[in-house]
Amino acid sequence: MKRIIRVYRFNTGSCGGCDLEIMAALSDAVDIAWAATPHEADVMLITGPLTVGAKAALMALVRESGNQTPILAIGRCAIDGHPFGRGGVASAAGLTVRSSLDGCPPTPTQILEAIRRAAESVAGAVRQRADAGL
Ligand code: SF4
Repeated sequence: MKRIIRVYRFNTGSCGGCDLEIMAALSDAVDIAWAATPHEADVMLITGPLTVGAKAALMALVRESGNQTPILAIGRCAIDGHPFGRGGVASAAGLTVRSSLDGCPPTPTQILEAIRRAAESVAGAVRQRADAGL
């Protein structure tokens, strides 16, 4: 049976465009579903430029999940704060695992591919550690 990838989405100040594309992406996906909490998620999606208030909330969520859930920054704002000139995950120290998908907004197809890639890279790292006996 194919594994379901669980994702948790957190809007860190997005205009809503990236979030709509994520909704559209997941509406047809049979291998990706929503997680109720970051702790239950295989991948945490963030959208938006990471405002000051959102940064504190995101870091609290990350702490709550034991900083284990990989973060996938969706859209240019989440990467570097576009069009505000600063922000995004580039401004957040202490986030351990990151990947990103550029676009304003990225398409649903790109979002699905990025989620699958992020989940697979984590699964691969876990397999490597297990193979190495770590
Ligand atoms: S990248 Fe574009 S669509 Fe996504 S939150 Fe920023 S402005 Fe909106």
